[in-house]
Amino acid sequence: MRLASLDGVPVARAEGERGPWRSLAGLVGSRGGSGPGLDAVIESWAQLGPTIVAELDDQTPVEAAGVWGPPLSRPGKIVGAPVNYLDHGAEMAMTHTVEELGFFLKAPSSVIGPGGSVVLPDPTVRTDQEAELAVVISRRARRVSPELALSHVLGYTCLLDITQRGSQERSMRKSYDTFTPMGPWITTTDEIPDPGVLSLRCWVDGLLRQDATTADLIVGVPELVARISAVMTLEPGDVIATGTPAGVGPLAPGQRVAVEIQGLGRLEVDVTGAGQ
Ligand code: MN
Repeated sequence: MRLASLDGVPVARAEGERGPWRSLAGLVGSRGGSGPGLDAVIESWAQLGPTIVAELDDQTPVEAAGVWGPPLSRPGKIVGAPVNYLDHGAEMAMTHTVEELGFFLKAPSSVIGPGGSVVLPDPTVRTDQEAELAVVISRRARRVSPELALSHVLGYTCLLDITQRGSQERSMRKSYDTFTPMGPWITTTDEIPDPGVLSLRCWVDGLLRQDATTADLIVGVPELVARISAVMTLEPGDVIATGTPAGVGPLAPGQRVAVEIQGLGRLEVDVTGAGQ
């Protein structure tokens, strides 16, 4: 199944490209107007998920022509894995990887959706695109084993971990407003049984910058969930940014960034400077 936010309404589509997008408003207690968004649906996935799966085909079809929001507009937390591909470590001349570095937090307020604009606060400071596979948590995870980790995962989406270069803390350089584009939808784990075999590509102004496979992750998704949950409880709606492969590079106002991950669609955003 694919889960998305369309004009602020949670919508879903059955497996793959089969059938139309359908509104979940009738299943989640919304009676028009501003019902619960997709964030609330995901936070209550343990209760709502089985009903949504069973009754999706009976819900009202919707035109996929509105404004797509991020699948999560305010994740509880965004946990990032630094240097989780060896080739990216090499291009950044990093002598340590995720194995020694652990992980970092990104501000949830940095999320934007498909078609949004990444705003560079200071275009004279190098700011890079980092295309990443993102993991969305469905069920509370605390000290889970790698073997059980994927049973706590709802699905996956495309994410851009926009990053200012510099000597400041990662959590600051990556947390400017608009620095975490996500979407266009979440593909659930029934369609992606193994997140370690997905092709990932990223273009800036149509030029291919990143072309990789998640098979090259140093610490794969199950082990990442296990390691993070050994430190902090993961809650439904939390997001893990799994790290970026080689090919990061500076962004400039006026550019357009696109990410495609196998089975997860295409996320596109543009880049502007502050005050534009
Ligand atoms: Mn990153």
